[in-house]
Amino acid sequence: MMTGTAWAGKRYAVLGLARSGAATVRALLASGAEVTAWDNDEAKRSPSLRLRGEGRGEGPSSTPAAPATSLLPTLVFADPLAIDLAGFDGVVVSPGVPLNRHPIVAHAGNVPILGDIELFAQARADLPPHKVVGITGTNGKSTTTALIHHILCAAGIPARMGGNIGLPILEQDPLPAGGVYVLELSSYQIDLTYRLDCDVAVLLNITPDHLDRYAGFDAYAASKARLFAMQSATHTAIIGTGDAPSRAIAETLGNRAIRIAVPDDLPAFGPALAGPHNAQNALTAIATCEALGLDRATIDAALRTYRALPHRMAHVADVAGVAYVDDSKATNPESTAPALNAFARIHWIVGGLAKGDDLDACRPGFGNVVRAYTIGDAADRFAELLGPDMAVENAGTLDAAVRSAATQARAGDTVLLSPACASFDQFSDYEARGRAFAAAVEALR
Ligand code: ADP
Repeated sequence: MMTGTAWAGKRYAVLGLARSGAATVRALLASGAEVTAWDNDEAKRSPSLRLRGEGRGEGPSSTPAAPATSLLPTLVFADPLAIDLAGFDGVVVSPGVPLNRHPIVAHAGNVPILGDIELFAQARADLPPHKVVGITGTNGKSTTTALIHHILCAAGIPARMGGNIGLPILEQDPLPAGGVYVLELSSYQIDLTYRLDCDVAVLLNITPDHLDRYAGFDAYAASKARLFAMQSATHTAIIGTGDAPSRAIAETLGNRAIRIAVPDDLPAFGPALAGPHNAQNALTAIATCEALGLDRATIDAALRTYRALPHRMAHVADVAGVAYVDDSKATNPESTAPALNAFARIHWIVGGLAKGDDLDACRPGFGNVVRAYTIGDAADRFAELLGPDMAVENAGTLDAAVRSAATQARAGDTVLLSPACASFDQFSDYEARGRAFAAAVEALR
């Protein structure tokens, strides 16, 4: 676990006790901070967050005979919205809290609102000499993060992944000297971070997404730009030049930006990194590792042993000669587009909670689709939208879509779950959606 001398004796409220919130509470308590924690889900307000047997954090009732000072609870459960936050040093919120409309923002007044990545930035002074790579972008963050981490590990460099990839950084143990922390950063996480000076900061792309959380597309792009504004002038910026907003950010950085363009004659990086989108991810990872001092031969050798992350164009099974591919992580049309270009004769399962009004970004791949099966909240609208371009069936649920596709597909076809939508209308998250797809495929056997 990370600790920070900067947090000792300070008071923090922590709102949201899912994995990163729970890790934050533990790291703050271990560093001698006083914590007021809250989650609306009672099950998450677990006493196990307290540090047992370390002389603090036992709560007011556990040591009745102790002197008054040790009676001070270092962890209490209370809703920060229901208490006066004057005197607190910070309110730590999870990136899921929408800053543009959550009442905590007004209630906190002058108390800073921050996230676990900002706490990590504050703890860096206590860590052995190290480097930090921060990766953002609308699509490709997890793949690029995992790829950079894989290359570093293969080269024998101590490295850890953290942030949006689902591994809270504060939960992890510090690296020895010379280590590299590779952080996947969503724009929500950047919004909660103020002083993370990445040795290498990476922007893959910016396309419309998450617009419910921002005043508009420009505000979303500005959030990504802050990753570079936080950097020292001598540190490296790596920016994909495939879209205008990313090019505009590169422009503001002049020579400091290394620009990554994907050439028309695609370099081959093996089956786990097929397609132009993965070429961008691989080229970006190569540039990042070169900036960290690795030589190209070491990087190329490591690229050959990389395995794709789950739910990103992952081959689930072949049934009766039909390939079933899980691309559940494609939660917007831009991230579905590469999958539609990757196969011929696709039975496309699409839908869920739509991020926008159209599927225009997917249009270049429409010619590969034999039939579409629309599901979820967007089922009716997408069926109408796609009708003029392809055969469409309004299947409603993922199970029904898989069953129907199985009867329609012939040997050599691909049944592709690439929903271009968020999953929350029918599933807890994209991973649950991917697992449900695999289970439905399994049921066909
Ligand atoms: P993120 O973590 O940013 O959501 P992932 O690496 O998990 O990105 O990939 C999510 C989806 O986006 C995948 O379905 C993949 O097809 C698509 N994708 C991956 N890399 C890129 C890229 N560089 N540009 C556009 N789409 C991409």
